Amino acid sequence: MLHDVRTELAGRITEMRETGVFKPERVLASPQGTHVRDESGREILNLCANNYLGLADDPRVVSAASKTLVDRGFGMASVRFICGTQDIHRELEERLSSWLGQEDTILFPSCFDANGGVFEALFDARDAVISDALNHASIIDGIRLCKAARFRYANRDMAELEARLQEASDARYRLIVTDGVFSMDGYYAPLDEICALADRYDALVMVDDSHAVGFVGEGGRGTPARFGVEDRVDILTGTLGKALGGASGGYVAARREIVAVLKQRARPYLFSNSVAPAVVGASLAVLDILQESDELRTQLERNAARFRAGMSEAGFELLPGEHAIVPVMFGDAVAASQTAQRLWEAGVYAVAFSFPVVPHGQARIRVQLSAAHTDDDIDRAIESFVATRD
Ligand SMILES: *Cc1c(COP(=O)(O)O)cnc(C)c1O
Repeated sequence: MLHDVRTELAGRITEMRETGVFKPERVLASPQGTHVRDESGREILNLCANNYLGLADDPRVVSAASKTLVDRGFGMASVRFICGTQDIHRELEERLSSWLGQEDTILFPSCFDANGGVFEALFDARDAVISDALNHASIIDGIRLCKAARFRYANRDMAELEARLQEASDARYRLIVTDGVFSMDGYYAPLDEICALADRYDALVMVDDSHAVGFVGEGGRGTPARFGVEDRVDILTGTLGKALGGASGGYVAARREIVAVLKQRARPYLFSNSVAPAVVGASLAVLDILQESDELRTQLERNAARFRAGMSEAGFELLPGEHAIVPVMFGDAVAASQTAQRLWEAGVYAVAFSFPVVPHGQARIRVQLSAAHTDDDIDRAIESFVATRD
């Protein structure tokens, strides 16, 4: 049987390569940052990390991690409820709650796990979950694990959301769930309109703010802050693995009773290891940095604006917006992937996305700016895009 399995799996991989959906892994031989090195030692300008605030290799964050590593050891070797809770885990949960304006917070090994555990623990067959069609895979999987009735609305389509709310009117609880920012487009969910509909149809609101927390909205508190609906969002999930240092870990910040039940029932919390102490210590330092000053957020906004303006001027088609995710549109999948390859050869790393990750005919290169990019980096990135056309 092993022989058959291996032959069949190898065939699948071959087919992925032939149809252009195989994802090769580039290997870095340096810390994550705006300038990385490949295995040959070549320096590369990185435009594809979720390192929005440049904190992944920030000396303050690294030193907080190493100090915690020495003080609190390498690992917890336990889930939280047995012997995996240190004072710093509770401290980080409290800091996240007060910063995000929620009553309580529960840490998870990742945001994928937070979304994987949240639905099943809170909702059952009497309830309805109404989800944006472009929500993150972890939300889709989390909803599948729960017995609630499932409804889907087209991306950011408020008329469809309203129709689904009407269809779900018999449910005990209705939950609207959306990404705060959609990762392929850099578009914001219209949380003001979503919350108004939630008020009208008596629904709960859940936002996954992974591509926003730390740098969107006042104080970097995320999409709810940007839309002025922090008090109306009932469940807020997010990752520590993007702007907030980029290591790992996720959280659910929510109403007190919601967090209390999640601590008793969320399976990835009950059955998976605690976040490593060094990551917790570093995350506390990240919150200090964000609360001391708006400098990094402001720099990121400037960098995104500079890149967007320069690329538009150079004649590239971008999806409109302000977010640090900047999709450079090619339409044709081959044109996008060949451009990404030429950029790589020129020492600039950006990734092309095509179907099925984005719709047919909307292939693109997704650029992600960081606060740590310099003006020279951004100008070099634009010049490199221009050079790929020659
Ligand atoms: C990245 C991301 C996740 C996963 O976060 P991890 O902590 O890496 O598991 C979940 N949801 C959204 C919207 C994301 O962008």
